[in-house]
Amino acid sequence: MNRHRKYDLPAKILEAITDDGWTVIYLEAPKLHPFRIRIHKGSESFNVRIYVWHLTHGGGKMRPADEYRVQITGVDRFEKEPDGLTLILGWWESGQVFAGFDIERHSGPLGFSPSIQIREEALRKAYENGFAPWVKDNQEIAIAFHQDFLAEYIRNVSALHTFGESDTDYEVLEGVSERPDEINDTVLATVSAPRKTTVAQVARKVRDNGFKARVLNAYAGKCAFCGLQLRLVDAAHILPVSHEHSTDDTPNGLALCALHHRAYDKGLVTLNSKYQVLHNAKMAEKLKAEKLDGGLKRFLKDLRDVIVLPPAVNDRPHIDFIRESNTLRGWKRAS
Ligand SMILES: [Zn+2]
Repeated sequence: MNRHRKYDLPAKILEAITDDGWTVIYLEAPKLHPFRIRIHKGSESFNVRIYVWHLTHGGGKMRPADEYRVQITGVDRFEKEPDGLTLILGWWESGQVFAGFDIERHSGPLGFSPSIQIREEALRKAYENGFAPWVKDNQEIAIAFHQDFLAEYIRNVSALHTFGESDTDYEVLEGVSERPDEINDTVLATVSAPRKTTVAQVARKVRDNGFKARVLNAYAGKCAFCGLQLRLVDAAHILPVSHEHSTDDTPNGLALCALHHRAYDKGLVTLNSKYQVLHNAKMAEKLKAEKLDGGLKRFLKDLRDVIVLPPAVNDRPHIDFIRESNTLRGWKRAS
C-alpha cells in the first residue's frame, strides 16, 4: 500500500462534510489519529474526534473471506471527545463507502495488533443504497454509508449504534436502507421514542442523496442555467419539497450552481416548458430602481438561452413540474 495514501483520508472527510453544506474548522493542527474538527450548519454544531483507517480485505486463514477490516495503528486506546462525538471509521476506497463503528464497544485498551471487522455485504449494500446498518457477530451495530451521508451519520452517531437494543427498531432501520420511500408516519409510530427522530432524518437523507446523485449525474455536474461545474452545483427541486405534488424523481430536479439556485428560488430566473432560460425583467427593473443591480449585466450574460439538457429524455425536467412551479413562483407568462 502506498504509504502516504492514508493522509488523503482527512481530506476525503472534510470534502464529504463541506459538500453537504456544513462548515468545518480544525480544533487543533491537522494530524491523524485522531483528528479533531468542529462542524456547523445553521444552529447545529458538533465537536468531532475522528479515528480513520483504510479498510483492507480480510486475509489470514482464520478469518472469513468476505471480511474487511481496519488495522488499528498509532493509538493504544480510543479517547472520547469531551462534550462531543467520537467516530471510528473505515474507508472502503473501491466503493467510496465508510464503515462506522461503535465507540462504546471499543473503549478499553486495544491490545496487540487490534483490528475491527465488517462484512463485505454491508459495504456493498451501502454502495448500492447509500446506507446500510449491520449487526456484527459480537452484536455491535456497524453502519456502512456512502461518503455523502457522513454529516448525517455524525448528527445521529450516538443513536444509530443503539438500534440493536430493539429488534423492531433495527428492522425499520434496515427498511430505511432498502425501501426509504416506505418510511411513513405509520412505520415511524412503531419505532421507540429515542430513535424515532433518527429514523425520520436518516430516511429523508437517503432519499435526498439518491435524488442529488441522480440529478447531478444527469447534468454531468453542470448548472442547467450557466454550465458551471466546480462542484458548486446543487440538485434543486423544480416543484419545492413542501409542495404536495413534489417528488424526488429526476424530472422534478434541476442541477443549479449556488448562485442560480438562489436566483431560481427568488424568482429572478426560471425555465419554461421549451427549456428556455428566462429572467425576470420586472424584478431587474425594481433592483435598478433600488440601486441594487450591481453585476446584473454579467449575470444576464452568463445565462444560457436554453438549459443544459440531460442526454437521457427521461431525466429531463417534466413539463408539468415546470408549469406548476412557475405558477407557484409567480411567473405569469413563462409556460
Ligand atoms: Zn449557474
